[in-house]
Amino acid sequence: MDKTFNPEGLGLDTLAVRAGIERSQFGEHAEAMYLTSSFVFKSAAEAAARFANQQPGNIYSRFTNPTVTMFEQRLAALEGAECCIATSSGMAAILSTAMGLLKAGDHVVCSAGVFGATVQLFGSILKRFGIETTFVSGTEVPAWQAAVKPATRLLYVETPSNPLTEVYDIAALADVAHRAGALLAVDNCFCSPALQRPLEFGADVVIHSATKYLDGQGRVLGGAVLGRKEIVYDGVFGFLRTAGPTLSAFNAWVILKGMETLNIRLQAQCASALKLAQWLERQPQVARVHYPGLPSHPQHALAMRQQKSGGGIVSFDLKGGKDAAWRVIDHTRLLSITANLGDTKTTITHPASTTHGRITPEARAAAGIGDGLLRIAVGLENVEDIQADLLRGLAG
Ligand SMILES: *Cc1c(COP(=O)(O)O)cnc(C)c1O
Repeated sequence: MDKTFNPEGLGLDTLAVRAGIERSQFGEHAEAMYLTSSFVFKSAAEAAARFANQQPGNIYSRFTNPTVTMFEQRLAALEGAECCIATSSGMAAILSTAMGLLKAGDHVVCSAGVFGATVQLFGSILKRFGIETTFVSGTEVPAWQAAVKPATRLLYVETPSNPLTEVYDIAALADVAHRAGALLAVDNCFCSPALQRPLEFGADVVIHSATKYLDGQGRVLGGAVLGRKEIVYDGVFGFLRTAGPTLSAFNAWVILKGMETLNIRLQAQCASALKLAQWLERQPQVARVHYPGLPSHPQHALAMRQQKSGGGIVSFDLKGGKDAAWRVIDHTRLLSITANLGDTKTTITHPASTTHGRITPEARAAAGIGDGLLRIAVGLENVEDIQADLLRGLAG
């Protein structure tokens, strides 16, 4: 019987446990972890052929490693991507994309609501190398169109955004990018392929921090860049294999196993997040809840077209400002006070004094990140226990 794996027509859950497996001569069932820096050749001629790219195969783990390749093929299957390359972290994925695809004199249009380190990378570090970035506030497509210049080569967006869960129209931004001869890159960290597949809406590049939902258990750092082969392999991989922000085989193995439960974890987390968001809307101390799954969310209709559900992150503004927000945090006994997200354990963050503490109060206000804002990344605990933990500080 032919046991060759054929991903055609298989569902997401099946791909998450079956895609990418490459068995060794021992026939192991679980994915093997290849902790080796280099690979040996049968002869001088074989070594020469591998190095000259005339024969496929592994050479050195900065370039490729079988466990890392399994991770890449599994994630590519989940995102519906032709090609995937793994990186040592989410930030390494963004850096490798920029270094692989851009050059001095190029211009980038980036959403102001992206991850803090992404703002630093585009706004300060890449600027030193002659790559200019315009940051656009808000989800309105005409503002993006207005920011495009003749030198624009990349549009960069994160949807939903952190921490306000603003939702951007991927298909409309892809259109703006393509009419300008640029590419659209989408950081799909908040949704993961279980909820949203940006390539289907016309995005050219998908970025992942595998540290978050793909591992899903808060253990290791990792990242990935996905898209067409001529962009990801010919463009980004050339930088990665030379400069070296490669994913380790150990981390790849951990995340591979994490991905097996991605969809069932996220379904449970989304269901709890929706319940929590609805409950928060009923609390008198809460001024506003930000959650794409609520009809009160400004881009609710778009989110429901683009995503399978509202996601696992809920943010809310407290009427009492910073004091009220800190009181909620300090009265928790269960929730983890940490900035990570996508974990099985629920985390609580005060963005204004942590993840967004380094930007000016004016810039924070412009971005809509008030002193009373809290962000919850919902885990797998019983939602009633999360509510009880928050209620202590809310009522306090
Ligand atoms: C965490 C995060 C990153 C950076 O990922 P690391 O793995 O920490 O380098 C990028 N984008 C988003 C949306 C994130 O949440």
